[in-house]
Amino acid sequence: MTAIHLNNIRKSFGTFDVIKGVDLEISPSEFMVFVGPSGCGKSTLLRLIAGLEDITAGTLAFDDKVVNSLTPSQRGIAMVFQSYALYPHMTVFDNMAFGLKLAKGGTDEIRRRVNEAAEMLQITAYLDRLPKQLSGGQRQRVAIGRAIVRDPKVFLFDEPLSNLDAALRVQTRLEIAKLHAKMHETTMIYVTHDQVEAMTLADRICVLRDGIVEQVGTPLELYEKPQSVFVAGFIGSPK
Ligand code: ADP
Ligand code: MG
Repeated sequence: MTAIHLNNIRKSFGTFDVIKGVDLEISPSEFMVFVGPSGCGKSTLLRLIAGLEDITAGTLAFDDKVVNSLTPSQRGIAMVFQSYALYPHMTVFDNMAFGLKLAKGGTDEIRRRVNEAAEMLQITAYLDRLPKQLSGGQRQRVAIGRAIVRDPKVFLFDEPLSNLDAALRVQTRLEIAKLHAKMHETTMIYVTHDQVEAMTLADRICVLRDGIVEQVGTPLELYEKPQSVFVAGFIGSPK
């Protein structure tokens, strides 16, 4: 179980300040959702936590350990993106096993982990198929499975449902909620611009606006006590 501490985190691309001093405490095994309008810095903040971008200033710590200069794999994170880049020439099983093989896991152990993740996501029947033989929702579940098998301490999602149609979005959202219940030792951060996803999945929601944190709270707190018209507008509460 990992707590994540963001202390005055800043990110600039050249002279363009994107993240402008974010302080945030994420509890061990919490499901934290970042919401906010397009371009407010959600993906950038997630990529800073992942280690896919360098932090310009501030301190990022996992538990008591500063991780600013660690690589994504040293941080023990896994990330699922909007576009599920599966290897087209590999079966579902091999897609899921690939990272474990690189990490030199034993064959039996790899098989056990892939089967366990496949069962969790109800894709066992598709393990021998190629990605092109799957629907979009199934492919996204394989992408999630590929992350799960590595047993991450921190699981990051960047708008994982936005390429799916409405029905699949609902179904896959329910899968993610179940996953969180099962992976109860894993801290999850989930980026979305969809209020329904945020309200239904989050333990707490962090509303971002133009590179700063506008408000953090449980879905109910934000709904009942939005601190600004911006938050009210975003969460859909009557203010
Ligand atoms: P969101 O995910 O909330 O839509 P992003 O984090 O992707 O927002 O982007 C925030 C801002 O930072 C945007 O104005 C975007 O154009 C800019 N940005 C993101 N990545 C880069 C980059 N590599 N170089 C320059 N600007 C970037
Ligand atoms: Mg984004």
